[in-house]
Amino acid sequence: MQLTVFLTACPACDRVFYEFENAELDECPYCGAGTKGANIERSEIVEFAIDHKTGLISLDGSKTTVISPSGQAAGMVADIV
Ligand SMILES: [Zn+2]
Repeated sequence: MQLTVFLTACPACDRVFYEFENAELDECPYCGAGTKGANIERSEIVEFAIDHKTGLISLDGSKTTVISPSGQAAGMVADIV
């Protein structure tokens, strides 16, 4: 199983926040604008994987990127693996 985290840009206030895939927020945590059905820009930033035998969580740091509110890639952040 893998769990993906998105970095999401709010279409109303342009701030970015984090969401789990398949558990997207209904509204922006900053300005409260509804995000359902909006043209949201989501960038996949990291995937979690679980070892089903040990329960250990691992992170795929190769997907760890940061975007600016304009959606432009701002480069890699520190490896979190
Ligand atoms: Zn907002």
